Amino acid sequence: MIVEMRRGAIQEEIDGVVQRAKSLGLDVQLNLGTEKTVIAILGSNTGQLPIDIFAVLPGVESVTRIMKPYKLASREFKPADSLVSIDGIEIGGKRIIIMAGPCAVETKEQLAEAARVVKESGASILRGGAFKPRTSPFSFQGLEKAGRELLAQVRKQYGIPVVTEVVDPHDVDLVAESADILQVGSRNMQNFALLTTVGKSRRPVILKRGFSCTVTEWLTAADYVLAGGNDQVILCERGIRTFEDSARFSLDVSSIPVIKNFSHLPIIVDPSHAAGHYSLVPALAKAAVAAGADGLLIEVHPNPKEALVDGLQSLTPSDFSTLMKELRAVAKSVGRYI
Ligand code: PEP
Ligand code: MN
Repeated sequence: MIVEMRRGAIQEEIDGVVQRAKSLGLDVQLNLGTEKTVIAILGSNTGQLPIDIFAVLPGVESVTRIMKPYKLASREFKPADSLVSIDGIEIGGKRIIIMAGPCAVETKEQLAEAARVVKESGASILRGGAFKPRTSPFSFQGLEKAGRELLAQVRKQYGIPVVTEVVDPHDVDLVAESADILQVGSRNMQNFALLTTVGKSRRPVILKRGFSCTVTEWLTAADYVLAGGNDQVILCERGIRTFEDSARFSLDVSSIPVIKNFSHLPIIVDPSHAAGHYSLVPALAKAAVAAGADGLLIEVHPNPKEALVDGLQSLTPSDFSTLMKELRAVAKSVGRYI
């Protein structure tokens, strides 16, 4: 249930709604907008409560039931777009933010070179996985702790924020020390223990779409993070599994405007994991920007032929630099910039 307060409602009136909800054993989350306060009333039995319980309270303008399973990620709860801020870099505004780097952290030289080239081409955030969630237990699992340390060193050396994946709830605090953004991967989108733990962190979170999950399931997963009090959530479309097997996954471009309709959260796109092949990445990246994505997460490796993971879908520094020029033109054509 969403309780919208009247413009100019006083604190006492807001407190009155909160106290009424608490007296019924319900949880609340407040969205203190610039114009009015919106209160989400959360609980498993809100569907059985008459809306008049809140509608009669002083200062209340309207009470709406949200029929969707997700609440905090919904536009009903927060009509204005959310902005996620990392070191002054804002995701969800007019500027499209490019995050790029290798799939996995491999060596200090590899990561440093990746940071240098992606920064030179105009990326603002470096990606690189230290903990890799691999489908097979026999594949390279990442450098783990050593990879995390390399990320911290390179971040400092190049003055570039980093995003890295966290796969285990027990590692969240540790990873948050050396990364500016925590990534929850596609395979973990419904790892509810992990979502709850990153929800308690104060680091922004990139929540990748599970490759067999609907938009509704994705936004409901985002509610786990938001319910913990972490409102710095960025959604990332990375392709879904369909009957089509000519690309690694099918990039669901429609999810970009769909998310913009249903949610206030920013959405970025990872064209690399959708494509699976470097030759497809530029077209998917441009399609994402044209469709309204707030950013891109792109795999770039100084030497893709030598990459330990995902070399086939990684762009060379020179292909990335060409793509960045093309992306600037696409961004301009849709009233944005990079
Ligand atoms: C990644 O970004 O490194 C990754 C593993 O992606 P996904 O979770 O989308 O497969
Ligand atoms: Mn990868």
